Amino acid sequence: MKSMELTFTGSFTQQEPIPSEAIARATEVLQGGRLHRYNTVEGETAEAALLESEFRDYMGSRYCLAVASGGYALTTALRASGLQQGTAVLTNAFTLSPVPGAIVAAGGKPVLVDVTEDLVIDLNHLSIQIATSGARLLLLSHMRGHIVDMEALMVLCNRESVTVIEDCAHTMGAAWNGVKSGRFGLAGCYSTQTYKHLNSGEGGLIVSDDPKFMARATILSGSYMLYDHHPAGPPAEIFTDIRLSTPNCSGRMDNLRASILRPQLARLGANCARWNARYCAVAAELNNVPGIRLPQRPEKEQFVASSIQFLVSELDPATITDFLSHCGKRGVELKWFGASEPIAFTSRYQSWGYIDPPSLPTTDAVLDKLCDMRLPLTFSLDDCSLIGAIIRDCVLATRESIVDGAIHVDKSSGDP
Ligand SMILES: *Cc1c(COP(=O)(O)O)cnc(C)c1O
Repeated sequence: MKSMELTFTGSFTQQEPIPSEAIARATEVLQGGRLHRYNTVEGETAEAALLESEFRDYMGSRYCLAVASGGYALTTALRASGLQQGTAVLTNAFTLSPVPGAIVAAGGKPVLVDVTEDLVIDLNHLSIQIATSGARLLLLSHMRGHIVDMEALMVLCNRESVTVIEDCAHTMGAAWNGVKSGRFGLAGCYSTQTYKHLNSGEGGLIVSDDPKFMARATILSGSYMLYDHHPAGPPAEIFTDIRLSTPNCSGRMDNLRASILRPQLARLGANCARWNARYCAVAAELNNVPGIRLPQRPEKEQFVASSIQFLVSELDPATITDFLSHCGKRGVELKWFGASEPIAFTSRYQSWGYIDPPSLPTTDAVLDKLCDMRLPLTFSLDDCSLIGAIIRDCVLATRESIVDGAIHVDKSSGDP
């Protein structure tokens, strides 16, 4: 095996530069000094408002609101949906910590729902959790871009009168059966944080077709009484009852970030294809390798894979640590959702100590085996093939060493 000698030397956290036309636009905004979205001169439409109109058109929604972060978008959407203090909100047990964080920030109580081996919400468990918790709100996280059967999910939620808010931090540009991710529920929420599909450092977007929801979200985001500066927002009369009864929880997007996002939005479709090509190059090396399970992706799932996940199905936690260190020595930094302590961005639900600890053995069995890796566009397709080959070699070598007992020899020599 030739890949045995090779090591990967790239960086898993290095994104592409901001496009030059975005830098040029940002420079103009900086020179103008009018960075605040409501600071416009006669006849000028703010960059933030232009971004909202462009993202609304891209999504095919009625309305769009740009805000300070993806987490803020989630909190705002929950509040604007009318979440009552102390009530239960369903969400995926496999997600990123800002998701349960948003529920708690909005005054809700997270009720976690199991994840399947294909890394989507378990609809049977969702049905049980709806019945037992009485929750009428689901914050559905398309975690790492895996999209559940949205038709089945919406049938269940509509039947049970459960309102759906979609966390599309990893599905901007993706669709289910031709319908864009974020267009199924009351609202879709997006992040433009550096590691997502558009990069403004921090930032968020909310889309919806519901005028009252969007009016509340707009006031919540800190629009003061300048809601008529939102061409992608609902008409002014919708605000009449809402403007004085909704608090200002300041979290706007500014013109500088909006200016660097607009040119990136124009490239989103092309970049989604580039991510998927990278995903396919890694997946080709991992397909049909004993001990590796790639999530099944149904034909209706038009995914955007800016990262890849797989289960090391035959390794137990001790040997997974060996596997990860083999990969690490060859330059492939994998994240593992089975670690007992949260590391960097990765945490499992047991680490969210501010919520009642549930017992979810089905989810635990998945997370214990789950490895995860970003696929930045700075990787070439050859890089991705090499990374895939290194992972395959390391899984096979770790499996062999279990059979040989070599791992145990390693352990006693204190050299894992
Ligand atoms: C990044 C992320 C968020 C939150 O986005 P921020 O912009 O970092 O606040 C929410 N959900 C998921 C699944 C994410 O990965």
